[in-house]
Amino acid sequence: MENNQSIKGRCKCGEVKYQITEKPLFTQACHCKDCKVLTGSSYVVNSSVLENTLKVEGEVSSAKLTAGSGAASRAFFCTKCGTYVYTDYDTAVGRLNVRTKTLEDPDKFPPQAHIFIKDKDPWLNLSENVNCFEKMYDPKVTWPKESLNRIKNYLKIKKNKSQ
Ligand SMILES: [Zn+2]
Ligand SMILES: [Zn+2]
Repeated sequence: MENNQSIKGRCKCGEVKYQITEKPLFTQACHCKDCKVLTGSSYVVNSSVLENTLKVEGEVSSAKLTAGSGAASRAFFCTKCGTYVYTDYDTAVGRLNVRTKTLEDPDKFPPQAHIFIKDKDPWLNLSENVNCFEKMYDPKVTWPKESLNRIKNYLKIKKNKSQ
């Protein structure tokens, strides 16, 4: 996919619509206990995008959450239907995590990694071909070079602007 092609998504009721102006940096499934509660399901699929590439229309509300690790995040959801659209993790500087399955065409972005496999539901069988991690991975090793370069360049620009 071309970088300049915008990718669209929306909440269930359509009040919140969004565009991502660059393809996601990385898509992953998280099987941790927090994500299970948040989704009411077995795992979440998130696509990490540069914060300046997500354009949201419609009214979102947010809830501040704290993970088991103590890391804070803010989850943004539609005020009408409650669909969680994206999350801002304190640890993911310069990035936002879009809920992949709210994309119009989520199948274009299958998870590139499954994390917190230690908490995976025992009845859920993943293919042997997927990239699995007991807990977390090192992005410097797991992320594509191109994505690492994009976030690095973005953070450099952001830092210069704030000086
Ligand atoms: Zn909605
Ligand atoms: Zn998780």
